[in-house]
Amino acid sequence: MRLIDGKQIAETIKQEIAGEVQRIKDQEGKVPHLAAILVGEDPASETYVNSKARACKQVGFDSSTYRFPVDVTEAELLEAVEFINNDPEIDGLIVQLPLPGHIDNQKVIQHIVPEKDVDGFHPVNVGRMTIGLPSYVSATPNGIMELIMRSRIETRGKQCVILGRSNIVGKPMSLLMSRNEEPGNATVTVCHSKTQNLGEVTSRADILIVAIGQPEFVTADMVKEGAVVIDVGIHRVPSDKTKSGFRLIGDVRFDEVSEKASYITPVPGGVGPMTIVSLLMNTLKASKKEIYG
Ligand code: NDP
Repeated sequence: MRLIDGKQIAETIKQEIAGEVQRIKDQEGKVPHLAAILVGEDPASETYVNSKARACKQVGFDSSTYRFPVDVTEAELLEAVEFINNDPEIDGLIVQLPLPGHIDNQKVIQHIVPEKDVDGFHPVNVGRMTIGLPSYVSATPNGIMELIMRSRIETRGKQCVILGRSNIVGKPMSLLMSRNEEPGNATVTVCHSKTQNLGEVTSRADILIVAIGQPEFVTADMVKEGAVVIDVGIHRVPSDKTKSGFRLIGDVRFDEVSEKASYITPVPGGVGPMTIVSLLMNTLKASKKEIYG
């Protein structure tokens, strides 16, 4: 079994980005700039936005966070998006989700100009990805494709089973793995909560990508000998073995599945570190106007 070390791969990519940022700075005097909109004081969102800002600093990007109270109106948020859309200094904008219930998430996302939608959530980017045009691909699927590519995992002609069909992970993964380029060219099956004989389907997978949000759901008997297993899930569970009193686990029972897998991503340190790095990669592309010219 080979561990896919997402932490190490993410560090390598950050160094590559930092080198490119230095080159752009020397030649053009401007550095990429990522802005985030954060509403309310949800600790998980706060942590995530802070780690994005830290990652930006690490690679030499500028970053800014636009904070709003939980009772901000939809009109005020749309105005902020508009302002950032028109700011030539800002290359990419992310809106930290979920937004409070009185705000229509989709309305806010669709207000971002596709050129700055580095989260890849705007329907224009999703549509472009679907028909194989250059686009911003959302962070987690993009990070998984990067892990597969950099680990030199063969995908062409393989049976790929994806557990989960969410808009942010499962669905884009299925499109990317079945696209007519590499990595891609796999034969893809998408499973969800209505799938019957799930274990039978997953047991046929050469590549199994698990994003269902169920702690340690995938057990060894559901996995083919020699399969590549990508675990997207992330759950905090109580533990008396750590100082914090918590430990992180995935959607896959790592101890037993790792005995059968040829490659596997750990949790933590697998897919997770790639998510923020993907956002940096997209922001770099935005600053270089690689997608929309
Ligand atoms: P969602 O809850 O949006 O989607 C879960 C999907 O899994 C749904 O399609 C659902 O089916 C399916 N599902 C749920 N239970 C079962 C089951 N028992 N059998 C078969 N299918 C099932 O989750 P996300 O895609 O947003 O996230 C998945 C996991 O990945 C979570 O643990 C999340 O925390 C993690 N995650 C990690 C990231 C990272 O950076 N590492 C980033 C994003 C997510 P149906 O559609 O029928 O309801």
